[in-house]
Amino acid sequence: MQYRGRFAPSPTGPLHQGSLLTALASYLDAKHHGGKWLVRIEDLDRPRCDYAHEHSILTTLEAYGLEWDETVLRQSDQPERYEEIYQGLLNRKEAYLCDCSRADLKNRGALNHYDRFCLNKQNVSQPAAIRFKVTQTSPFEDRLLGQQAISSGGVSDFILLRRDGFIAYQLAVVVDDYDQNINQIVRGSDLLLETEKQRALQLTLNYPMLEYAHLPLVLAEDGQKLSKQTFATAIKRDAKSIYENLMLALQRLGQLTEEPETPDDPVNLLDYATKRWDISKVPKVIKTTT
Ligand code: GLU
Repeated sequence: MQYRGRFAPSPTGPLHQGSLLTALASYLDAKHHGGKWLVRIEDLDRPRCDYAHEHSILTTLEAYGLEWDETVLRQSDQPERYEEIYQGLLNRKEAYLCDCSRADLKNRGALNHYDRFCLNKQNVSQPAAIRFKVTQTSPFEDRLLGQQAISSGGVSDFILLRRDGFIAYQLAVVVDDYDQNINQIVRGSDLLLETEKQRALQLTLNYPMLEYAHLPLVLAEDGQKLSKQTFATAIKRDAKSIYENLMLALQRLGQLTEEPETPDDPVNLLDYATKRWDISKVPKVIKTTT
């Protein structure tokens, strides 16, 4: 089976050091395996997304030599596709309407783990959300983090369509990965907990299971998560910065150890890094002072 991976940024800001790291790792993993690398714009949360950011992310990827295969899919272009899926789940009683407000959930202590209050409710008031009924989950082996158990208490029923009409990321990401025949996912560890939810949905929809590699988060020297401000600045696009940022990202990914003769231009550097890519060299924690 041909390797098919993707980078799926949300255009809520420009490409920064952190997203470059994710893009680069998923690109190198795909290309090292002779695979395809797709880019998908995850812009369903419209108020937080901006076309200017989308444009800047795509042009920055190109400037860095991270050229994608096939057409860029934009989630906001295909609401009907997601609707088809959640309607099917509702019809098969694999999802249900839910009119619980945040305050209701808070009062019942069900904010983090939904208590199925609406599962068999007859008169759900409108507008209602659509919740996925989790019936099966499955542990998995992460290529970087090893065996992952199901989190304590299991996965609770989660939202597919919000009460305000927004399609949830969980639904869109599962449908898109399936439609785009993605079989390998390389992304940040901040999404590790989402993976079990996505796998629960994939199982119910009879979609093939994917392989995952969750990259370590980049932490400040003291082990704290880097603040948004420190880490959200757009990366520069002049030739010198491109080269330096690629080198920095490769170092952070553990790819430049014992490699004294690295090419001194970005194109050859990417080529060199693709050939030598070794995911097992990615460190468990990435600490940085910059
Ligand atoms: N759009 C998500 C983000 O920017 C990434 C989703 C994914 O890789 O599955 O955080």
